[in-house]
Amino acid sequence: MTFIEVSPESHFPIQNLPYGIFSTAENPNPRVCTRLGDYVIDLAMLDESNLFSKQYNLFNESSLNKFMSAGKNVWREIRQQLTELLSSNNSKARTEPSRSVKKEALHFIQNIKLHLPVQIGDYTDFYASREHATNVGIMFRGKENALMPNWLHLPVGYHGRASSIVLSNTNVIRPHGQVAVKDSPPEFVASRSLDFELEMGFFVGQENNLGEPIKIENAHEYIFGMVLLNDWSARDIQAWEYQPLGPFLAKNFATSISPWVVTMDALDSFRVPTPKQDPTPLPYLKIDSALGIDISLEVFLQSESMSEAQLISNSNMKYLYWSIEQMLAHHTITGCNMRVGDLCGTGTISAPYENGYGSMLELTWRGEKPIQLSSGEERKFLQDGDTVTMKAYCQGDGYRIGFGEVVGKIIRNA
Ligand code: CA
Repeated sequence: MTFIEVSPESHFPIQNLPYGIFSTAENPNPRVCTRLGDYVIDLAMLDESNLFSKQYNLFNESSLNKFMSAGKNVWREIRQQLTELLSSNNSKARTEPSRSVKKEALHFIQNIKLHLPVQIGDYTDFYASREHATNVGIMFRGKENALMPNWLHLPVGYHGRASSIVLSNTNVIRPHGQVAVKDSPPEFVASRSLDFELEMGFFVGQENNLGEPIKIENAHEYIFGMVLLNDWSARDIQAWEYQPLGPFLAKNFATSISPWVVTMDALDSFRVPTPKQDPTPLPYLKIDSALGIDISLEVFLQSESMSEAQLISNSNMKYLYWSIEQMLAHHTITGCNMRVGDLCGTGTISAPYENGYGSMLELTWRGEKPIQLSSGEERKFLQDGDTVTMKAYCQGDGYRIGFGEVVGKIIRNA
């Protein structure tokens, strides 16, 4: 029970309490908030009004970085205190001063502006779904060589581009680039094979020193929380440029994330074992605890002629072969230092069934099986005016811990 009514379908009940950055017309300074149902709560105001056990001075900030760098104990303290403050049966919450402050700190979601939640330093994208890697491998190398020899031994990844990470609802401009032409020199065109990739992302909230790898047993201490992530991909540009060094311009024009960072503490009760890892990973990647997470994932597509979005995929993060803790341990095993605000993507999360694939490339099997839309149109890849919406949530007993949405519309530069 909370002092605000929250419906059972809401992604933001008291059990969630994600963090974001918001501003209002009256106070345009971006600052930290949490969310409960259809309201956001200004943490800077709660802190300044001494509603926490002490003054933290972490929330009058335009990103979550300062709060994240305070470390796991502070993350837990704040979550605990917010849970108490925002519960209706709490004695402190019922006192009159606390009520009036909370009223002032409360804003209806339609009346605020959300901002990118984190100042992102480095961005790394993994490739941790066995189903996705296998599907792509079959298409490009055939069934026999679908998985590369390294794939079952390490979480494959590449260093991405942080500057073009955008908040949900930012339009995505169709990129131009070089595309191969059979028996001719390449041509320079607007990408004809624009795709999405359904991913989750996690934020690093604790640094390790250069030369000191993060141990797999401690990796969870370094992860602050997660967001939904769409790794927009231009397949025709990718196919021509990627050998031998991997994705470059095919991926650097936009990556969209959802505005709410859901904490690992909120996700804790949705931990499940990862799929069986065989062969057994090397000791630096091996751990016995359940490190998968049961997060339902949905992708919707809406063309300009459609009146509502159509569900085209539903997957789940529990299918990911490699856990996020293994990704972090692997990322740092060379001594690479992570910094507060670094973002890692999981890679496309494809389910082991066809309507759960996490990209157009797989859903249409390279364009061989176009998606039929309710408008009568079909799609092999994304067209101008198409809107992709991804949603994610953990289903609890009578409540949901959700990430909200990550939305992006494809437009063309005039
Ligand atoms: Ca990706």
